[in-house]
Amino acid sequence: KSAGACVARAMACLAKTMQDEEAMLGRIDAIAGDGDHGQGMARGARAASRAAKAASEAGAGARTVMEAAADAWGDRAGGTSGALWGEALFAFSTVLDDSSAFDRSRLVQGVIRGGQRIMAIGKAEIGDKTMVDALAPFIATLEEQSLAGHGLAQSWSRAVDEAHRGAEATKNFAARKGRAKTHGDHSKGYPDPGALSFALAMQVLTPLVQ
Ligand code: ADP
Ligand code: MG
Ligand code: MG
Repeated sequence: KSAGACVARAMACLAKTMQDEEAMLGRIDAIAGDGDHGQGMARGARAASRAAKAASEAGAGARTVMEAAADAWGDRAGGTSGALWGEALFAFSTVLDDSSAFDRSRLVQGVIRGGQRIMAIGKAEIGDKTMVDALAPFIATLEEQSLAGHGLAQSWSRAVDEAHRGAEATKNFAARKGRAKTHGDHSKGYPDPGALSFALAMQVLTPLVQ
């Protein structure tokens, strides 16, 4: 299978998960935010998946397919998270080129690059109750594990566990960034929707790293 088709497949996995979790993510966002996080993620991922499939069927390589996905996600998702995910996928595309394979080491590099981009533009700190609370431990664990010489499959699984732990820990915080900050205290006791969707997204990509 071509590298472009592999990128499109990864996007299709994300789209399926976000569709399955749409209602749950919307309910959590409604507690302290405006309730649209599920819809935004589902819409963005579906648009990205469709655009990636079309580009790949037209013969595009991995980088071009990822760029198409990034544009579509950013255009169609709406909301803060949609803009951040669009930017992250675009940053991801920069570790690929059109003649490269889309193998697991590229997936890991791309996710790290995308996560760094979210942190650079969103400027959220750990504890602000945003997706960074799942994303930062995810990346840190991937890096630590690979420095310790563990294989990518094991590193990824541990990083997914840490992302879920990070998302779970947001239950204890009041939101300080994004729309949720105006209703910060209402969100205590509930996780940040963007942190949860990030952890779920990395979890569903696990088979690609095995
Ligand atoms: P909106 O808040 O515009 O309705 P969404 O509901 O789709 O957008 O996304 C909300 C999520 O965006 C939050 O749960 C949080 O994880 C994430 N978010 C908001 N602001 C930031 C930021 N500055 N950095 C990182 N993530 C953020
Ligand atoms: Mg929202
Ligand atoms: Mg909104």
